[in-house]
Amino acid sequence: MAATLKLTNTLTREKADFVPIDPANVRMYVCGPTVYDFAHIGNARPVIVFDVLFRLLRHFYGESHVTYVRNITDVDDKINTRAFERWTKKRSLNEEIRELTRVTAAQFHTDIAALGVLPPTHEPRATEYVCDGTRPLDMVRVIAGLIEKGHAYAAEGHVLFNVPSMPAYGRLSRRSMDDMIAGARVEVAPYKKDPTDFVLWKPSNPETEPGWDSPWGFGRPGWHIECSAMSGALLGEVFDIHAGGLDLIFPHHENEIAQTCCFTGKEVMANVWLHNGFLQVEGQKMSKSLGNFITINQLLETDTFGGRRWPGEVLRLAMLRTHYRQPIDWTVKGLEEAEATLKRLYEKVSGVMPGAISDEVVAALADDLNTPLAFAELHRIADTTKLAATLKLLGFSCDLAAIGAGAAPVDAALAAKVEPLIAARLAARAAKNFAESDRLRDELAALGIALKDGKGADGQPVTTWELKR
Ligand code: AMP
Ligand code: ZN
Repeated sequence: MAATLKLTNTLTREKADFVPIDPANVRMYVCGPTVYDFAHIGNARPVIVFDVLFRLLRHFYGESHVTYVRNITDVDDKINTRAFERWTKKRSLNEEIRELTRVTAAQFHTDIAALGVLPPTHEPRATEYVCDGTRPLDMVRVIAGLIEKGHAYAAEGHVLFNVPSMPAYGRLSRRSMDDMIAGARVEVAPYKKDPTDFVLWKPSNPETEPGWDSPWGFGRPGWHIECSAMSGALLGEVFDIHAGGLDLIFPHHENEIAQTCCFTGKEVMANVWLHNGFLQVEGQKMSKSLGNFITINQLLETDTFGGRRWPGEVLRLAMLRTHYRQPIDWTVKGLEEAEATLKRLYEKVSGVMPGAISDEVVAALADDLNTPLAFAELHRIADTTKLAATLKLLGFSCDLAAIGAGAAPVDAALAAKVEPLIAARLAARAAKNFAESDRLRDELAALGIALKDGKGADGQPVTTWELKR
């Protein structure tokens, strides 16, 4: 049984069969981190979720037939500000910036490797695609092309994209021109022809900002143009999948589409657009001011969250227990449950040679990356060689030592029994199979487990459990 991959496309708001442009080279681009500080656990979500998609695409089309690009944004005003704050003038500011982005990118690699994430096929750095004549495409060439075609104009050292020049603008985010003009985030500047026009290039102060010589003077690119140039250089004019977090739909992805389509003359930039939902912490938006801002590194290396360190593979499982399009509530309890589940699974497969991959798990993943259903299916696998192979497909090492750090605070034996039943019951409820969900509730009651169905802060169904006293 070969499952068909279906994905929910933000462009059409529909779930549809995925048909690659070229099955011998399936091409995906994910917007990567801006490297000025430790990546937080919200940043880890697209990295983990689209790593699962990368692995699934490799499973369907073959390892050498998938090209995955995830960039590093190493030119950005947040980077400049941070570097300037740290600058001791012992070296040039540009050197300070380079050092900050080098160290932060290296930290990012260390963090996400612990989460079981495969390296992408290409990891371009924005600074290498500004005006480097050796690349198939660079930012200065895209900007010059847009000016030539009447979609952009130079004004006071800036180059702006003229939004009204593109009638299809707003298609991805489904925003009207009026909404956009009213949008508080639109910067008003005297040199803009239209209030919605956005920056492709801006002047740099040679003393305090990084810059490149260009036909429009010494300056630096805007954020959106970076992804248009890197994706165009490495994946071509039209590619299969473009992904990132929900917050990128507008303006970032809308503007990438505008730049690329007006430059190439094609109707689309990527056929399928995928967006992961947001992560919050213990029911609250993560923010520095609320004191609940957690980095991947803190979870792995310090006692900041729940008073202990967490193995990377536990974080991976905790992230994948929620469907990627739903909001996720990151809680200590969720991590404890993920740990107990993972321990139980790893105990079963310890020392087992991987065999065939489970068709049922692949079918669940193929249904718009339904990872909660995939885990429910995983619990039903009796053949340990199949279980080992399927865990590996999902990016889990099957190595008990890898999750050895820290003691499981919940009764692992009980959780091991209860968790799969709860997962199966949630799946039955989602499928409106109420007879089965009632049967599972009774089965749990017989074990002394009381269930509480509720809604998380995000409005999604959540089931918690406790042992009746
Ligand atoms: P940034 O470095 O801010 O551009 O973010 C890198 C990636 O992380 C983007 O795909 C964002 O959409 C994503 N992201 C940022 N914050 C969160 C969050 N709280 N939950 C989920 N994804 C997030
Ligand atoms: Zn991007």
